[in-house]
Amino acid sequence: MKKHLLFLGPPGAGKGTQAALLSEANSYLHLSTGELLRKEIDLGTSLGKQVKDTINKGELVSDQLVLEIVKKNLDKENNGWILDGYPRNLSQVKSLNSVLINLNQTLEIVFYLDIPEEVLIKRLLMRGRKDDNEDTIKTRLKIYKETTEPLIEYYESISLLKYINADRDLKTISTDIKQKMA
Ligand code: AMP
Repeated sequence: MKKHLLFLGPPGAGKGTQAALLSEANSYLHLSTGELLRKEIDLGTSLGKQVKDTINKGELVSDQLVLEIVKKNLDKENNGWILDGYPRNLSQVKSLNSVLINLNQTLEIVFYLDIPEEVLIKRLLMRGRKDDNEDTIKTRLKIYKETTEPLIEYYESISLLKYINADRDLKTISTDIKQKMA
């Protein structure tokens, strides 16, 4: 049984939704770095205060801060997990690889949710999160292309990547993902 997965794809591709469905069905931990950071902001913690402006601008929070969150959560988890929104650049890939070596865990599948940019923009504008306005969306997509997209090739080169067409309805996508888990 495959137990350690991650979701890769642009903002608005549906990573959070699909990761939530899959983690619920399998009782895996769903670790969304974006969700955890937003929670810190809502709680008004010092970490939240540090990251608020960066997130609202659509820029990436420092690798170091995000790594702390990931480590803290994976450390206590030996059941299985789904990472959503991490890693987002090659330096985070390296950090994740070392964390996993230390924990004696391996990543088995990387689901890449692919979707055309014009569909993304529409979806994000509909979602209406605080960082979902037109300017911020542009920044997030630009950062995604420049720093996150190269991860697709990396995970493909180590044969972990599974391609998912994310321009379909939610149920069709989740069925596809479940089939590809086998
Ligand atoms: P998300 O919910 O994945 O769209 O993330 C929302 C925001 O949280 C991003 O635009 C970043 O500012 C921040 N964030 C989430 N995950 C990461 C990460 N792995 N590295 C840096 N910043 C992140």
